Amino acid sequence: MYRTHNCGELRNENIGQTVVLSGWVQKIRNLGGMTFVDIRDRYGISQLVFDDKNQNLCDKARELGREYVIKIQGKVIERSNKNSKMPTGDIEIIVEELTVLNKSEIPPFTIEENTDGGDELRMKYRYLDLRRDSVKKNLILRHKMAHEVRNYLDENNFIEIETPILIKSTPEGARDFVVPSRMNKGEFYALPQSPQVFKQLLMISGFDRYYQIVKCFRDEDLRADRQPEFTQIDCEMSFAEQEDILNMFEGLAKHLFKNIKGVDFNDEFLRMTWADAMKYYGSDKPDLRFEMKFVDLSEIVKGNNFKIFDEAEYVGAICAESCASYSRKQLDALTDFVRRPQVGAKGLVYVKYNEDGTFKSSVDKFYSQEDLKKWADAFSAKPGDLLLILSGNRNETLTSLGQLRLEMANRLNLINNNKFAPLWVVDFPLFEWNEEAKRYTAMHHPFTSPKEEDIDMLDTNPGDVRANAYDLVINGVEIGGGSIRIHDNDVQQKMFKLLGFSKEAADSQFGFLMNAFKYGAPPHGGAAFGLDRWVALFSGLESIRDVIAFPKNNAGRDVMIDSPSIISDEQLKELNLKVTKEPS
Ligand code: ASP
Repeated sequence: MYRTHNCGELRNENIGQTVVLSGWVQKIRNLGGMTFVDIRDRYGISQLVFDDKNQNLCDKARELGREYVIKIQGKVIERSNKNSKMPTGDIEIIVEELTVLNKSEIPPFTIEENTDGGDELRMKYRYLDLRRDSVKKNLILRHKMAHEVRNYLDENNFIEIETPILIKSTPEGARDFVVPSRMNKGEFYALPQSPQVFKQLLMISGFDRYYQIVKCFRDEDLRADRQPEFTQIDCEMSFAEQEDILNMFEGLAKHLFKNIKGVDFNDEFLRMTWADAMKYYGSDKPDLRFEMKFVDLSEIVKGNNFKIFDEAEYVGAICAESCASYSRKQLDALTDFVRRPQVGAKGLVYVKYNEDGTFKSSVDKFYSQEDLKKWADAFSAKPGDLLLILSGNRNETLTSLGQLRLEMANRLNLINNNKFAPLWVVDFPLFEWNEEAKRYTAMHHPFTSPKEEDIDMLDTNPGDVRANAYDLVINGVEIGGGSIRIHDNDVQQKMFKLLGFSKEAADSQFGFLMNAFKYGAPPHGGAAFGLDRWVALFSGLESIRDVIAFPKNNAGRDVMIDSPSIISDEQLKELNLKVTKEPS
């Protein structure tokens, strides 16, 4: 028998019992005649004592090394030197028998909270990294969340159905990963960017409520919240309106908040239109843990011969409370921030509302104290506050101001990490103008339905058509989103046309779906939530890599298994493929 107990469960009530434990050697200390060994497994750590009265056993213990796998038998006794920081800290085990189950080489980094291993090294030996509590606990949380998701959805009649991985291009707007087909030479499968079309087909099949915790693949440039393969909680419902769907998944979010974080949300989640989210926060995923709403100054700043404002489509500002004392250096740093290419503003105008009630600004030449007072009043600003103003093209300026808002919140420590601020962003535009391609693309995906009352504008003013689409946002993170789908063949055809698909292209890519729509498609809609992001959010982590057992690095590489890698000439031949450029 390998164990009667695990390494984390022995307590006072076990004192006097003979137990068998198996696990890894965490630490060895020789103190006087005694040798102490910490034994670790997934559940915790227990202290073993080797008494020098048993010389043979003691000698054996001294030969142990870090990460050896051992089995011991011994008696649980009360510890004289209790350790209140360890759950097993009241007891120790006097070892009577020791078996080395397997030796270990010296690990490349210490398997402890504050490891000496850098990121690359830890990823190369990820299986060792996963022995560390801080990493392990994220995966355990992930498991619990997935389990609670299944509980909730099962209680609500959802059926988990697997959909294929080798498919053809799906319409989420990213680049596909492709897999060559050996049996169909010259042809390729695409990996699903999401199971979107399959879940819609399942609604046509009558499954009514579907879900799947599923891997999705998107070949995009990587960031902290992106991996080439990631996991979605993918859901779809028939005979459901937007309201039904928001309620159902708000229920899921509340279930997770309650069962995982112990937080009760009694009130309904806030709902904000996409237009308001952009207007007041410059983001379609506003972080509402703090306020700092934008004020549109476009009208009141015009007419004073300050060309930049006079010519701007939009002039907007935020008010940073108690920041009027900012130094030249601090203001310069903010100007540098807004000028970063990722932020994209040309410059920053500030107005200091001094404690003595006077104003000092970078545009004093053009505006009187009374003018500046009007701006401050638009915010109900107080002496001591600082207005930060950006101007230019409306959409770009709103986005830049949104980034400045987040930057200021970080600088001013306004973000309470123990707070959760969930909201639904609704009424997204149906289309997005793609400047490069000079055409509209679907903001969500081509199966998203336009709002009934906006359908008339499809031909005249597509940019203004709103969609039955929604996102769940928590603390500035887009946790998921979805839409009510088009279930009418004519509207779907029209949508493809507006998106620039020729009839042939639409047929070849989505003909199967169009066909299915001819056989009684129920009204349906759904949503998908990013499991990785949700777990990261609940763990208080920035990067989703930390909640994935075997993630890829920023270059899309798995440095542990060394992938991607080249394949043999035989494999290439079998697949009828030729590599023309040597991999670098
Ligand atoms: N397939 C969509 C996505 O991956 C979600 C949905 O519309 O249900 O974003």
